[in-house]
Amino acid sequence: LALERAKLIAFLENLSITDALTGIANRRHFEWRLSEEIERARRYKYPLSTLMLDLDHFKQVNDNYGHQIGDIVLQQVAQRLRLILRRTDFLARYGGEEFIILAPQTPADRALILAERLRQVISESPFPIADNLQIHITISIGVAVFPEHAQNESELVRAADAALYKAKQTGRNRVCLFEPEP
Ligand code: GH3
Ligand code: MG
Ligand code: MG
Repeated sequence: LALERAKLIAFLENLSITDALTGIANRRHFEWRLSEEIERARRYKYPLSTLMLDLDHFKQVNDNYGHQIGDIVLQQVAQRLRLILRRTDFLARYGGEEFIILAPQTPADRALILAERLRQVISESPFPIADNLQIHITISIGVAVFPEHAQNESELVRAADAALYKAKQTGRNRVCLFEPEP
């Protein structure tokens, strides 16, 4: 009985930090991990990069093929991202069609290289949804680095989001690094 109970607790704990659709970490798990990583970066004085990813024109995928197909695309995008990342990088589903990555001990130049690889791996080949359906997807990515661009958790996420906004504004399917206001 005790074993069953332990299993149930482990199962429930896992549910509460995992995104049901994609199987990756959810936003709550991300917030928790972010504060840990910021603390570690502060203590050991290393840079922590954050990548905010958003699928381009994803509403069109839902409009053209339906929400269920959209869901399959989201699952496959998460899967492809996961394959590229290192064990030390943390990937989460941040919102509907937004993903976020924490790359510890990673300065801006290396974060940009990683982001560019992710952008390419998503855009270079279509997602095989069914025998007669393949869907091309592109993503935009904003990159921000602690402590260069932000002093705490919320500032870091906001900076990555601002960089993502710039990537959208300047044409999508691209990577932008956070730039402080002059
Ligand atoms: P942009 O390039 O500016 O990001 O355009 P967009 O169409 O991706 O952005 P917008 O914010 O207008 O729409 C996001 C869409 O993502 C709207 C919503 O229907 C879709 N979406 C969000 N979450 C899910 C989900 O869990 N499943 C599916 N199928 N669609 C989702
Ligand atoms: Mg989008
Ligand atoms: Mg969005």
